[in-house]
Amino acid sequence: MLALQAFTPEPLAGALGIGVAEARKIIAAVHRGDALADLRGLTGVTRGAMAAARARGHVPSLEVRAIRPSAVDPFVKLALGTADGHVVEAVRIPLEREGRFSACVSSQAGCALACAFCATGRLGLARNLEVWEIVEQVRLVRATLGPGQRVHGVVFQGMGEPLANVDRVIAAIRVMNDPCALAIDSRAITVCTSGLPSGIRQLAREVPKVRLGLSIASARPDVRRRLMPIDAAHPLDDVLEAVEEHARATGLAPMWAVTPLAGVNDTEEDAVALAALVRRFESRAGVRPRLSIVPYNAIAADGQDPFRRGDVEIFLAHLKAEGVKPHLRYSGGGDIGAACGQLAGKP
Ligand code: SF4
Repeated sequence: MLALQAFTPEPLAGALGIGVAEARKIIAAVHRGDALADLRGLTGVTRGAMAAARARGHVPSLEVRAIRPSAVDPFVKLALGTADGHVVEAVRIPLEREGRFSACVSSQAGCALACAFCATGRLGLARNLEVWEIVEQVRLVRATLGPGQRVHGVVFQGMGEPLANVDRVIAAIRVMNDPCALAIDSRAITVCTSGLPSGIRQLAREVPKVRLGLSIASARPDVRRRLMPIDAAHPLDDVLEAVEEHARATGLAPMWAVTPLAGVNDTEEDAVALAALVRRFESRAGVRPRLSIVPYNAIAADGQDPFRRGDVEIFLAHLKAEGVKPHLRYSGGGDIGAACGQLAGKP
Protein backbone atom coordinates (compact mmCIF):
# COMPACT_ATOMS: atom_id res chain seq x y z
CA MET A 1 0.00 0.00 0.00
CA LEU A 2 1.25 3.48 -0.83
CA ALA A 3 1.46 5.38 2.45
CA LEU A 4 2.63 8.99 2.62
CA GLN A 5 4.33 8.33 5.97
CA ALA A 6 6.88 6.11 4.20
CA PHE A 7 8.19 8.93 2.00
CA THR A 8 10.95 11.49 2.07
CA PRO A 9 10.33 14.59 -0.12
CA GLU A 10 12.00 13.71 -3.44
CA PRO A 11 10.36 10.30 -3.92
CA LEU A 12 6.99 11.74 -2.84
CA ALA A 13 7.28 14.57 -5.35
CA GLY A 14 7.86 11.96 -8.05
CA ALA A 15 4.99 9.74 -6.88
CA LEU A 16 2.44 12.58 -6.75
CA GLY A 17 3.74 14.59 -9.71
CA ILE A 18 4.30 17.75 -7.65
CA GLY A 19 7.30 19.92 -6.73
CA VAL A 20 9.71 18.95 -3.95
CA ALA A 21 8.83 22.05 -1.91
CA GLU A 22 5.16 21.08 -1.98
CA ALA A 23 6.06 17.47 -1.11
CA ARG A 24 7.87 18.82 1.96
CA LYS A 25 4.74 20.65 3.07
CA ILE A 26 2.63 17.53 2.62
CA ILE A 27 5.07 15.42 4.63
CA ALA A 28 5.18 18.01 7.41
CA ALA A 29 1.37 18.08 7.52
CA VAL A 30 1.10 14.28 7.58
CA HIS A 31 3.54 13.92 10.47
CA ARG A 32 1.89 16.73 12.40
CA GLY A 33 -1.34 14.80 11.98
CA ASP A 34 -3.08 17.83 10.48
CA ALA A 35 -6.58 17.50 9.17
CA LEU A 36 -7.01 18.42 5.54
CA ALA A 37 -8.70 21.66 6.51
CA ASP A 38 -5.55 22.74 8.32
CA LEU A 39 -3.23 22.48 5.34
CA ARG A 40 -2.38 26.13 5.20
CA GLY A 41 0.15 27.32 2.68
CA LEU A 42 -0.35 24.57 0.15
CA THR A 43 -1.16 25.39 -3.44
CA GLY A 44 -4.44 24.24 -4.90
CA VAL A 45 -2.63 21.52 -6.87
CA THR A 46 -1.01 20.15 -3.73
CA ARG A 47 -4.19 20.33 -1.68
CA GLY A 48 -5.83 18.36 -4.47
CA ALA A 49 -3.03 15.78 -4.47
CA MET A 50 -3.28 15.47 -0.71
CA ALA A 51 -7.06 15.17 -0.74
CA ALA A 52 -6.85 12.47 -3.39
CA ALA A 53 -4.16 10.61 -1.42
CA ARG A 54 -6.33 10.67 1.71
CA ALA A 55 -9.43 9.58 -0.21
CA ARG A 56 -7.51 6.61 -1.61
CA GLY A 57 -6.37 5.59 1.89
CA HIS A 58 -2.77 6.67 1.37
CA VAL A 59 -2.51 8.26 4.84
CA PRO A 60 -3.20 5.15 6.95
CA SER A 61 -2.76 4.92 10.68
CA LEU A 62 -2.52 2.30 13.37
CA GLU A 63 -5.52 1.99 15.65
CA VAL A 64 -4.73 3.14 19.17
CA ARG A 65 -6.19 0.28 21.23
CA ALA A 66 -4.85 1.43 24.58
CA ILE A 67 -2.59 4.02 26.14
CA ARG A 68 -1.35 2.75 29.50
CA PRO A 69 0.63 5.02 31.80
CA SER A 70 2.66 3.28 34.48
CA ALA A 71 1.58 3.92 38.08
CA VAL A 72 5.16 3.74 39.35
CA ASP A 73 7.22 5.76 36.85
CA PRO A 74 6.68 8.06 33.85
CA PHE A 75 6.70 5.26 31.24
CA VAL A 76 3.66 4.95 28.93
CA LYS A 77 2.82 1.97 26.73
CA LEU A 78 0.75 2.19 23.55
CA ALA A 79 -0.99 -0.90 22.16
CA LEU A 80 -1.52 -0.31 18.44
CA GLY A 81 -3.69 -2.38 16.12
CA THR A 82 -2.78 -3.08 12.48
CA ALA A 83 -5.40 -3.34 9.75
CA ASP A 84 -4.91 -7.13 9.58
CA GLY A 85 -5.55 -7.68 13.28
CA HIS A 86 -2.12 -7.70 14.92
CA VAL A 87 -1.27 -5.67 18.00
CA VAL A 88 2.17 -4.10 18.24
CA GLU A 89 3.45 -2.05 21.14
CA ALA A 90 5.43 1.15 21.46
CA VAL A 91 6.73 2.67 24.70
CA ARG A 92 7.23 6.29 25.65
CA ILE A 93 10.43 6.48 27.70
CA PRO A 94 11.28 9.61 29.70
CA LEU A 95 14.84 10.88 29.25
CA GLU A 96 16.90 12.58 31.93
CA ARG A 97 16.31 16.02 30.51
CA GLU A 98 12.88 17.29 31.51
CA GLY A 99 10.33 17.21 28.70
CA ARG A 100 12.35 14.90 26.44
CA PHE A 101 11.33 11.39 25.55
CA SER A 102 12.50 8.42 23.55
CA ALA A 103 10.09 6.28 21.55
CA CYS A 104 10.74 2.55 21.78
CA VAL A 105 9.27 1.12 18.57
CA SER A 106 8.46 -2.33 17.19
CA SER A 107 9.76 -3.52 13.82
CA GLN A 108 7.79 -6.77 13.53
CA ALA A 109 4.50 -8.20 14.74
CA GLY A 110 5.89 -10.96 16.95
CA CYS A 111 9.39 -12.33 16.48
CA ALA A 112 10.84 -15.58 15.17
CA LEU A 113 13.99 -15.58 17.26
CA ALA A 114 12.59 -16.97 20.53
CA CYS A 115 15.07 -15.48 22.99
CA ALA A 116 14.31 -17.24 26.28
CA PHE A 117 14.07 -14.04 28.35
CA CYS A 118 11.62 -12.22 26.05
CA ALA A 119 7.82 -12.27 25.92
CA THR A 120 7.73 -11.30 22.24
CA GLY A 121 9.85 -14.35 21.44
CA ARG A 122 7.04 -16.56 22.74
CA LEU A 123 4.63 -15.26 20.11
CA GLY A 124 6.45 -16.40 16.98
CA LEU A 125 6.60 -14.14 13.94
CA ALA A 126 3.38 -12.87 12.38
CA ARG A 127 4.95 -10.48 9.86
CA ASN A 128 7.34 -7.63 9.25
CA LEU A 129 5.96 -4.16 9.82
CA GLU A 130 5.78 -1.79 6.86
CA VAL A 131 7.85 1.39 6.79
CA TRP A 132 4.84 3.56 7.56
CA GLU A 133 3.79 1.30 10.45
CA ILE A 134 7.20 1.80 12.06
CA VAL A 135 7.22 5.57 11.47
CA GLU A 136 3.63 6.01 12.63
CA GLN A 137 4.49 4.63 16.08
CA VAL A 138 6.71 7.67 16.67
CA ARG A 139 3.96 10.08 15.66
CA LEU A 140 1.50 8.32 17.95
CA VAL A 141 3.94 8.44 20.86
CA ARG A 142 4.44 12.14 20.11
CA ALA A 143 0.69 12.68 20.12
CA THR A 144 0.63 11.73 23.84
CA LEU A 145 2.96 14.59 24.77
CA GLY A 146 2.05 17.93 26.25
CA PRO A 147 3.18 21.44 25.28
CA GLY A 148 6.96 21.89 25.37
CA GLN A 149 7.61 18.14 25.37
CA ARG A 150 9.17 16.30 22.47
CA VAL A 151 10.40 12.95 21.19
CA HIS A 152 14.14 13.38 21.10
CA GLY A 153 15.20 9.84 20.18
CA VAL A 154 14.05 6.46 18.93
CA VAL A 155 15.16 3.04 20.06
CA PHE A 156 14.39 -0.07 18.03
CA GLN A 157 13.94 -2.27 21.04
CA GLY A 158 10.25 -3.04 20.87
CA MET A 159 8.72 -6.16 19.34
CA GLY A 160 10.74 -7.97 16.69
CA GLU A 161 14.30 -8.24 15.45
CA PRO A 162 14.88 -5.00 13.49
CA LEU A 163 17.64 -6.44 11.35
CA ALA A 164 15.32 -9.21 10.16
CA ASN A 165 13.37 -6.34 8.56
CA VAL A 166 16.42 -4.22 7.85
CA ASP A 167 15.44 -2.57 4.54
CA ARG A 168 12.20 -1.21 6.01
CA VAL A 169 13.90 -0.21 9.25
CA ILE A 170 16.49 1.81 7.31
CA ALA A 171 13.78 3.40 5.17
CA ALA A 172 11.89 4.31 8.36
CA ILE A 173 15.06 5.83 9.85
CA ARG A 174 15.43 8.04 6.77
CA VAL A 175 11.91 9.37 7.29
CA MET A 176 12.57 9.88 11.01
CA ASN A 177 15.71 11.87 10.11
CA ASP A 178 14.07 14.08 7.52
CA PRO A 179 13.73 17.65 8.81
CA CYS A 180 10.22 18.06 7.45
CA ALA A 181 9.07 14.66 8.73
CA LEU A 182 10.07 13.71 12.29
CA ALA A 183 13.42 15.59 12.39
CA ILE A 184 15.10 13.13 14.76
CA ASP A 185 18.89 13.17 14.69
CA SER A 186 20.49 9.85 13.62
CA ARG A 187 22.72 9.96 16.70
CA ALA A 188 19.60 9.83 18.85
CA ILE A 189 18.45 6.61 17.14
CA THR A 190 19.61 3.19 18.34
CA VAL A 191 18.97 -0.12 16.60
CA CYS A 192 19.16 -3.03 19.03
CA THR A 193 19.77 -6.47 17.58
CA SER A 194 20.16 -10.02 18.77
CA GLY A 195 23.06 -10.18 16.31
CA LEU A 196 22.52 -10.55 12.55
CA PRO A 197 25.92 -9.85 10.95
CA SER A 198 24.77 -8.89 7.45
CA GLY A 199 22.24 -6.41 8.87
CA ILE A 200 24.89 -4.88 11.14
CA ARG A 201 27.14 -4.33 8.10
CA GLN A 202 24.23 -2.84 6.16
CA LEU A 203 23.55 -0.36 8.97
CA ALA A 204 27.21 0.71 8.92
CA ARG A 205 27.06 1.29 5.16
CA GLU A 206 23.66 2.96 4.88
CA VAL A 207 22.99 4.78 8.16
CA PRO A 208 26.46 5.18 9.73
CA LYS A 209 25.41 7.76 12.32
CA VAL A 210 22.80 5.49 13.88
CA ARG A 211 23.90 3.77 17.08
CA LEU A 212 24.03 0.00 17.46
CA GLY A 213 22.90 -2.05 20.44
CA LEU A 214 23.69 -5.75 20.79
CA SER A 215 22.05 -8.25 23.09
CA ILE A 216 24.96 -10.29 24.43
CA ALA A 217 23.07 -12.39 27.03
CA SER A 218 26.26 -14.25 27.94
CA ALA A 219 29.92 -14.27 26.92
CA ARG A 220 29.94 -18.04 27.43
CA PRO A 221 28.96 -19.65 24.10
CA ASP A 222 26.99 -22.59 25.51
CA VAL A 223 24.98 -20.33 27.83
CA ARG A 224 24.32 -17.77 25.09
CA ARG A 225 23.08 -20.48 22.74
CA ARG A 226 20.64 -21.73 25.36
CA LEU A 227 19.26 -18.23 25.90
CA MET A 228 19.36 -17.05 22.28
CA PRO A 229 18.74 -19.79 19.69
CA ILE A 230 19.87 -17.42 16.90
CA ASP A 231 23.42 -18.02 18.21
CA ALA A 232 23.37 -21.41 16.44
CA ALA A 233 23.09 -19.65 13.07
CA HIS A 234 25.26 -16.66 14.01
CA PRO A 235 27.72 -17.46 16.79
CA LEU A 236 28.81 -14.55 18.97
CA ASP A 237 32.31 -14.44 17.49
CA ASP A 238 30.88 -13.90 13.97
CA VAL A 239 28.48 -11.28 15.30
CA LEU A 240 31.27 -9.45 17.12
CA GLU A 241 33.37 -9.39 13.95
CA ALA A 242 30.53 -7.48 12.26
CA VAL A 243 30.12 -5.22 15.31
CA GLU A 244 33.87 -4.48 15.27
CA GLU A 245 33.61 -3.54 11.59
CA HIS A 246 30.63 -1.33 12.44
CA ALA A 247 32.60 0.41 15.20
CA ARG A 248 35.65 0.95 12.99
CA ALA A 249 33.55 2.25 10.08
CA THR A 250 31.33 4.56 12.15
CA GLY A 251 33.60 5.49 15.06
CA LEU A 252 30.65 4.74 17.38
CA ALA A 253 30.94 2.54 20.44
CA PRO A 254 28.23 -0.13 20.48
CA MET A 255 25.95 -0.66 23.45
CA TRP A 256 26.01 -4.23 24.79
CA ALA A 257 23.04 -5.41 26.86
CA VAL A 258 23.16 -8.22 29.38
CA THR A 259 20.29 -9.37 31.58
CA PRO A 260 21.54 -11.30 34.64
CA LEU A 261 19.39 -14.37 35.30
CA ALA A 262 19.79 -16.13 38.65
CA GLY A 263 22.07 -19.14 38.36
CA VAL A 264 22.20 -18.92 34.57
CA ASN A 265 24.50 -16.08 33.53
CA ASP A 266 25.07 -14.05 36.71
CA THR A 267 28.01 -15.84 38.30
CA GLU A 268 31.51 -14.52 38.85
CA GLU A 269 32.65 -16.76 35.99
CA ASP A 270 30.11 -15.04 33.72
CA ALA A 271 31.34 -11.59 34.77
CA VAL A 272 34.98 -12.54 34.19
CA ALA A 273 34.17 -13.91 30.70
CA LEU A 274 32.16 -10.79 29.87
CA ALA A 275 34.94 -8.46 31.02
CA ALA A 276 37.46 -10.40 28.89
CA LEU A 277 35.15 -10.00 25.89
CA VAL A 278 34.89 -6.25 26.51
CA ARG A 279 38.69 -5.95 26.60
CA ARG A 280 39.14 -8.08 23.48
CA PHE A 281 36.58 -5.97 21.61
CA GLU A 282 38.26 -2.73 22.65
CA SER A 283 41.69 -3.93 21.53
CA ARG A 284 40.35 -4.94 18.13
CA ALA A 285 37.81 -2.19 17.41
CA GLY A 286 39.52 0.74 19.13
CA VAL A 287 36.42 1.66 21.14
CA ARG A 288 35.11 0.20 24.39
CA PRO A 289 31.53 -1.08 24.23
CA ARG A 290 29.09 0.62 26.61
CA LEU A 291 27.93 -2.25 28.76
CA SER A 292 24.34 -1.98 29.91
CA ILE A 293 23.05 -4.27 32.65
CA VAL A 294 19.29 -4.71 32.29
CA PRO A 295 17.49 -6.28 35.27
CA TYR A 296 15.23 -9.16 34.27
CA ASN A 297 11.52 -8.42 34.09
CA ALA A 298 8.89 -11.10 34.56
CA ILE A 299 7.54 -12.23 31.19
CA ALA A 300 4.84 -14.73 32.13
CA ALA A 301 1.43 -13.32 33.04
CA ASP A 302 0.61 -16.49 35.04
CA GLY A 303 3.64 -16.12 37.31
CA GLN A 304 5.27 -19.23 35.77
CA ASP A 305 8.42 -17.40 34.82
CA PRO A 306 11.30 -19.36 33.33
CA PHE A 307 13.86 -17.26 35.24
CA ARG A 308 14.44 -15.30 38.40
CA ARG A 309 16.17 -11.94 38.43
CA GLY A 310 19.91 -12.31 38.97
CA ASP A 311 21.60 -10.33 41.74
CA VAL A 312 22.48 -7.24 39.77
CA GLU A 313 24.53 -5.60 42.52
CA ILE A 314 26.82 -8.62 42.93
CA PHE A 315 27.18 -8.98 39.17
CA LEU A 316 28.09 -5.29 38.88
CA ALA A 317 30.66 -5.70 41.65
CA HIS A 318 32.29 -8.65 39.83
CA LEU A 319 32.49 -6.58 36.64
CA LYS A 320 33.96 -3.60 38.44
CA ALA A 321 36.60 -5.87 40.01
CA GLU A 322 37.53 -6.80 36.44
CA GLY A 323 37.94 -3.14 35.50
CA VAL A 324 34.66 -2.80 33.59
CA LYS A 325 32.22 -0.08 34.61
CA PRO A 326 28.78 -1.01 33.33
CA HIS A 327 25.71 1.14 33.27
CA LEU A 328 22.72 -0.14 35.22
CA ARG A 329 19.72 0.50 33.02
CA TYR A 330 16.45 1.51 34.61
CA SER A 331 13.89 -0.58 32.80
CA GLY A 332 10.59 1.09 33.61
CA GLY A 333 6.94 0.34 33.06
CA GLY A 334 7.16 -3.10 34.67
CA ASP A 335 3.63 -2.76 36.09
CA ILE A 336 2.13 -2.25 32.61
CA GLY A 337 4.20 -4.87 30.79
CA ALA A 338 6.28 -2.16 29.11
CA ALA A 339 9.73 -3.02 30.47
CA CYS A 340 12.52 -4.64 28.45
CA GLY A 341 11.53 -8.15 27.40
CA GLN A 342 7.87 -7.79 28.36
CA LEU A 343 6.20 -6.59 25.13
CA ALA A 344 3.69 -9.23 24.12
CA GLY A 345 1.25 -7.48 21.81
CA LYS A 346 -1.66 -7.42 24.24
CA PRO A 347 -4.59 -5.17 23.22
S1 SF4 B 1 14.76 -10.15 22.42
FE1 SF4 B 1 14.34 -9.23 20.41
S2 SF4 B 1 15.14 -10.77 18.95
FE2 SF4 B 1 14.92 -11.84 20.93
S3 SF4 B 1 12.86 -12.75 20.84
FE3 SF4 B 1 12.66 -10.73 21.84
S4 SF4 B 1 12.08 -9.35 20.18
FE4 SF4 B 1 12.95 -11.21 19.24
